[in-house]
Amino acid sequence: MKERPSMADGLNAPAKPPLIDRFGRQVTYLRLSVTDRCDLRCSYCMSEKMQFLPKSELLSLEELELVANAFIDRGVEKVRITGGEPLVRRDIGDLIDRLGGRLGNGLEELTLTTNATLLERFADRLYDAGVRRLNVSLDSINPDKFREITRRGSLDQVLNGLQAAKRAGLKIKLNTVALKHQNLEELPDMIRWAHGEGFDLTLIEVMPLGDTGEDRVDQYVPLPDVRASLEDRWALDPLPQHDMNAGPSRYVRVKETGGKLGFITPLTNNFCAGCNRVRITCTGRIYMCLGQDDFIDLRAALRESSDPQASLNAALDEAMFYKPEKHEFRIDARGQDPALSRHMSVTGG
Ligand code: SAM
Ligand code: SF4
Repeated sequence: MKERPSMADGLNAPAKPPLIDRFGRQVTYLRLSVTDRCDLRCSYCMSEKMQFLPKSELLSLEELELVANAFIDRGVEKVRITGGEPLVRRDIGDLIDRLGGRLGNGLEELTLTTNATLLERFADRLYDAGVRRLNVSLDSINPDKFREITRRGSLDQVLNGLQAAKRAGLKIKLNTVALKHQNLEELPDMIRWAHGEGFDLTLIEVMPLGDTGEDRVDQYVPLPDVRASLEDRWALDPLPQHDMNAGPSRYVRVKETGGKLGFITPLTNNFCAGCNRVRITCTGRIYMCLGQDDFIDLRAALRESSDPQASLNAALDEAMFYKPEKHEFRIDARGQDPALSRHMSVTGG
């Protein structure tokens, strides 16, 4: 008879250590970018003539799965798939299905950030894989403005995607970047509409990431100003911050609409003390902080090592050692951070 492994061996097997940085923060949240490509060209995110990476530079779906599993084995409970636009990556449904298989086995939440252009096609599949909530970027509900901001998108397609997600049972949070000349006036209408649809909405300050061909000084608006003007019309009741999903968002309940409204203020407010996340680019770089340029290369660990698992774990330890205490965006006269040439679509939002 085949010899059984001893139960004691299993019990004594060393658990892989959690990912804790030098400031005592445990990383439990991974943002995994699966592509830098996108079917839109939002004016604050990328340039009209964005050059995408050659496909050979991207991690394969198998490599992305291996990386995600290495993080989950070391205590990551939440994985957000992002991009570029994650749903344009070929066979992305297969990766989502496989990661969904880790739910209840180390992973507590699998989620996505998407522009929703392909959501009508994917909504049921996402739900079946175990996804329950999505972040959807939407910066205008005026069709002309939407096309102007995204430089090519169709608002109807996105709205159909949102309705499909709702029917599938997915909970939606909208992310809206506040843009001085493009959607500032529209924000109250958007918030009222979103809350009427049962969607939460979070406002985001535009960040100085990557050259987009636009002057960011023309885009940036401080959210404390937006909040003050919303407070002229509505009562905003601050919500407690104990929700692990809140991250850098500060939430209020809008009394008149009953809905939740969030504010992400990377420029006016530093929210790094409780940071529990790292980001991986589609090329396998771990960025320990969105606002700094330091990274650890996982692709080399995966492709050039004779023991990829061991190299991967060593790279994770190194990333924890170098995770900085906080971000420090610096803004030049064009509203750009001279040290941060990479786009949000490369790092993953
Ligand atoms: N394509 C998907 C989408 O738009 O939801 C996922 C990737 S996108 C890079 C993720 C988020 O980053 C979006 O909510 C987008 O609005 C935000 N974003 C992109 N560039 C930004 C910038 N420079 N400042 C602030 N937010 C930005
Ligand atoms: Fe694409 Fe998202 Fe960037 Fe817009 S914000 S260009 S949808 S990656």
